[in-house]
This record gives sequence, C-alpha cells and structure tokens, in this order.
Amino acid sequence: MKMTNTKPRLLTGDRPTGRLHLGHYVGSLANRVRLQHQYESFFIIADLHTLTTKPEPQYIKDIPIFVRETVLDYLAVGIDPQISTIFVQSAIPETYQLNLLLEMLVTVPRLERIPSLKEMARDAHIDSMPFGLLGYPVLQAVDILLPRAEVVPVGKDNQSHVELARELARRFNNLYGEVFPEPEAIIGDVPTLVGTDGQNKMSKSLGNAIYLSDDATTVEEKVMGMYTDPKRLRATDPGTVEGNPVFTYHDAFNPSRAEVDDLKERYRVGKVGDVEVKKKLVKALNDFLEPFREKRAYYLAHPTYPRDVLANGIRRMQAEAKETMDIVRSITGLEYSFDLFADEVDLFGEYDG
Ligand code: ATP
Ligand code: MG
Repeated sequence: MKMTNTKPRLLTGDRPTGRLHLGHYVGSLANRVRLQHQYESFFIIADLHTLTTKPEPQYIKDIPIFVRETVLDYLAVGIDPQISTIFVQSAIPETYQLNLLLEMLVTVPRLERIPSLKEMARDAHIDSMPFGLLGYPVLQAVDILLPRAEVVPVGKDNQSHVELARELARRFNNLYGEVFPEPEAIIGDVPTLVGTDGQNKMSKSLGNAIYLSDDATTVEEKVMGMYTDPKRLRATDPGTVEGNPVFTYHDAFNPSRAEVDDLKERYRVGKVGDVEVKKKLVKALNDFLEPFREKRAYYLAHPTYPRDVLANGIRRMQAEAKETMDIVRSITGLEYSFDLFADEVDLFGEYDG
C-alpha cells in the first residue's frame, strides 16, 4: 500500500566523511529538524559524493563507519524517522541513471564557474580537476530531483549547487516535459560557521571542528585552545568582538543574550579575560550538546532502532526513485523495446506457415 502525502518535499544530506559538527547544525541541521514538520523530508547520506575527492580503498573502507555515525547524529539532533526518510545514496540505483541524463544538460564551463569545487579540490590536495569532482553538483542535483524536492536546507557553500539543480530541472522540463519542481536553497541562521582556528569554515577535513558527539572534556579542550583576537595580549587590552570566533559561537549557541552582551561590552573595553569568555562558552556549548549526547548514547545502546530506520528509509526512497525514473524514461522516450527484429521474424513466420 502506498501512503499518499501531499506535503511539498525537502531533500538534503551529508557526505559520510566523519561525524557531524556545530557547522552542520547551524548551517543545515537546525532547519531540517524544524522543517520536517512542514515538508515531507528526505535525508541522504551521500556516500557516492565521498568518491569525488576520496576514491581510494582506504577511504571507502571507512564509509560504513561514518554512515552509522551520521544516522546516530541525525537521530540525536531530532530528525524524526516517523515522519522523515533517512537513506544511503548508493542504495538507489536510479541515482546513476539520472546522473547520466543530467550530465548531458550542462556544459563544462558552467561547472567550472562553481567556486566550491576549486576549494574542495584544494582542500583535498588535488591539483587537476577529476571529471567526477566537476560533476559533484550534477550528482547533487540528481539527489534533489529524484524525490522531486522543492526545498534544500544547506550551508552557504552549497548554495551554488542548488542553483545548478534549479537550472537542470528547468532545462530538463523545457526539453522533455514538466517533471521536476525547481528546488530552492534554504540557508541556515549562520550561513558559514568559522572553525576553531578562526581561519576557515568549520569542516570535518580541516581538523577545526567541534563535533556534536564530542564529550564535555573534549569541548572544553577545544574551546580553551580556540583562536581569539590575536592583537590582544592582556585581559586589560581592549579587544575586538566582530569576527572573533569565540563570540561568533556565543552568538550562535549561548541562549543568554544578557550574558553575551555583558561579555562583549567588557571585552571591548578590556574588562574581561579570554579565559572567562571561553569558560562561559564551554558551559553554553556543553548545555547545548548534552541532550544530543544522551539521545546518541541511547541509540548506540539500542542499535536495532537505527538499523531499522535506515533499512526502512532505503526501501522508501527506492520506491520513490523508481517512480520518478519511470516517468523520466517515458517522457524522454528512453523506454523503447530492444526486440527490434520482432516484425521481420513474424513476417517469415507467415510465409513459412
Ligand atoms: P567535508 O570536509 O567532508 O567536505 P563538511 O564538514 O564540509 O565535510 P559536508 O558533508 O560537505 O560537510 O556538508 C554537509 C552540509 O553541512 C552542507 O549543507 C554544508 O553546506 C553544511 N555545512 C558544512 N560545514 C558548514 C559550516 N562550517 N557552516 C555552515 N554549514 C556547513
Ligand atoms: Mg564540504
């Protein structure tokens, strides 16, 4: 039996390259948890995307470990599998099929203009762009279009990818007929969260992340070692709040506006030390993360639940993908029979008879 759901759809997800961190939370996860009640939501663990920068077997070996961690992180932050679908990209064969069709609808110069791809290549120490990495946003468009999603909650670095998905949907619809909605990006409250190093965006691959699953001591160590205002040598020196990552995190995660305003005021005039500002951040972050840690520990101790969640999610998305590809095959005309000599055989049959 098929459940009919008339809500508009949402798709987004993550590469299984590590555990999820605070940047994922403010860039995308918070919106997912909120929007899953308004949209029929699909959350993809994009293992094939991992191959675009890490095709070597030693990385492939880690994928299942990180798929598991990602499912636990999703459940921990409040993605509700009763109403949302969690699945793994490579379990959906239609992904490869639609990818090939969409590849025909975009030019190489268009892809070369996408800034995040060059950054990704640089971060992965790749000096010449592989064909598959150039196709990263095409594959992402496939993920978005397969369930015919209308909204995509992502961080700022992914905005240009969703723009390409819009273009591909439009191009496909113009060429073959109306199949796909034009998806729209929904950017989080903090479009790009800076890393603990203060230099880059927080990222799994840059060693500057505070993970949602970090324990209280680890959070403390990371925060106490954080980059702050480099020009400030003593607690009595006036400090800079703007662009200071410690205050960026206070703004994003400390629920006490009064405390943050007071710290900022004293910091600007040299009436508070970095240690106090950081200690208050440790407290705020640990309060914020504690409920996630508890839920994560629960699911880790009850693994049949996350296992069923993933198995059901995969089955659900497989059915959706099949439905979409049936429409795609029919509207493009890519459904011809290969029994091309049937008529001739019949003709001879008549004479013989
Ligand atoms: P990797 O280092 O493997 O690229 P990542 O940490 O950049 O990993 P992704 O899996 O590429 O994470 O991103 C998943 C989602 O989280 C995307 O929507 C992305 O925009 C968002 N995101 C990741 N890092 C940040 C950040 N620092 N600030 C805001 N959003 C982020
Ligand atoms: Mg990334």
